[in-house]
Amino acid sequence: MADTNEILNNNSLKKTKKTRKTTKELTNIVDIPKKKSTSRKPRKNRKLTEEVRFKKSPLKIIPLGGLLEIGKNITVFEYEDEIIIVDCGLAFPTEDMLGVDLVVADMSYLEKNKNKIKGLFVTHGHEDHIGGIPYLLRQVNVPIYGTKFTLGLIRNKLEEHRLLKSTTLYEVEQGTTIDAGKMKVEFIRTSHSIPDAVSFAIYTPVGIVVHTGDFKIDYTPIDGQRIDFGRLAEIGRKNVLLLMSDSTNAERKGFTKSESTIGEVFDELFVHCKKRIIVATFASNVHRVQQIIDASYENGRKVAICGKSMVKMIETACELGYMNIPKNTLIDIDLINKYADEKLTIITTGSQGEPMSALTRMAAGDHKKVEITPNDLVIISANPIPGNEKFVTKVIDDLMQIGAEVVYSSLADIHVSGHGCQEEQKLMLSLIKPKYFMPVHGEYRQLIAHAETAEKLGIPHENIFIMKNRKST
Ligand SMILES: [Zn+2]
Ligand SMILES: [Zn+2]
Repeated sequence: MADTNEILNNNSLKKTKKTRKTTKELTNIVDIPKKKSTSRKPRKNRKLTEEVRFKKSPLKIIPLGGLLEIGKNITVFEYEDEIIIVDCGLAFPTEDMLGVDLVVADMSYLEKNKNKIKGLFVTHGHEDHIGGIPYLLRQVNVPIYGTKFTLGLIRNKLEEHRLLKSTTLYEVEQGTTIDAGKMKVEFIRTSHSIPDAVSFAIYTPVGIVVHTGDFKIDYTPIDGQRIDFGRLAEIGRKNVLLLMSDSTNAERKGFTKSESTIGEVFDELFVHCKKRIIVATFASNVHRVQQIIDASYENGRKVAICGKSMVKMIETACELGYMNIPKNTLIDIDLINKYADEKLTIITTGSQGEPMSALTRMAAGDHKKVEITPNDLVIISANPIPGNEKFVTKVIDDLMQIGAEVVYSSLADIHVSGHGCQEEQKLMLSLIKPKYFMPVHGEYRQLIAHAETAEKLGIPHENIFIMKNRKST
């Protein structure tokens, strides 16, 4: 049925006044040459569109955030008089946004169309996918569908914003399909750097749209929950209309390593260490934190937790059964001075060198409970998110000036990405075999790199959509 529905091509979109105007606006931002390149350079320039609309059918796909950027992912699927939303994240401000704490997408389109909304479907619990939910709920009250761990994190957030009582949450198991009016949404297990992540197959009257959410292909995940290849392949046999796929690592060749490779590196670092060990990582990377705790336990160390978000995340993960901490391993941060350095690990926030975070304050010598000494081994188990490099460098410098030993990702394999590289993106494209392709979750160059990968796998150039976020008009 997909064959009868043609997507408007870029040329026809170009004819509309509005698109021409926004394309021009965008040239200022991403520096797209106005003339279409005629050379045979592999990197082609592409026209950007704000909305995919299917001819002879009322299916519209409108990204409100998450394109030409990493952050505030939110996409609208509209079929006739019904809307479903996929994800609702926030972004952190760039340096030029003085006084801004966080950035949410422009949701006025949803407010205008609030009677059409059937629900919000959430792929996983990272801030760039759930952080905007309280702001959406203040404008429109919508039911939320997610897996157990994702809902656990959403619940914490709504409690904080006093929105929990007024919101309906539906816990969905992987493998289940939810009826959302004319569209149906299937939850498919995937792997990422947070437990319980899913991809969606969205069944619409004009065809199937697969949205990967954030994914990597991890054959040896810590929780044993592998991506559901079988189901993805089955869906791929049903003439999928469109694949929307994670582009974060589209410029990187090869594969992303398994999360479980990190455990081995921790073991090597821990086994003969006589120093106190301090590890900074992302709070939401529950499996990383688990591996740090396991390495500590196996080497006879107690573990103290530092940083509000880390404490809260571990609490939630334990309550919901996503973490398993051996008895008598955790100790209160106030008691760390009772233990010898070689018997202690501290897990902390601040892997991005965020100014107010625990690790940054330790490095600056103004943390109330942890004083860094030359007898500390500090492991930064994360890569700086683009934009944060200089904060992280400053923290490393400060720690080293105190005399601490610092291990970070350029020195040892103590971090792996949660996003798949080119070979994993190829596998996804090969399983799903879509007619049309839309790279999502990425900056312009990542979307373009992903588009090139798709072309190599046989998706025609004109069937690939590079989109930009819709702005309210
Ligand atoms: Zn994510
Ligand atoms: Zn993301």
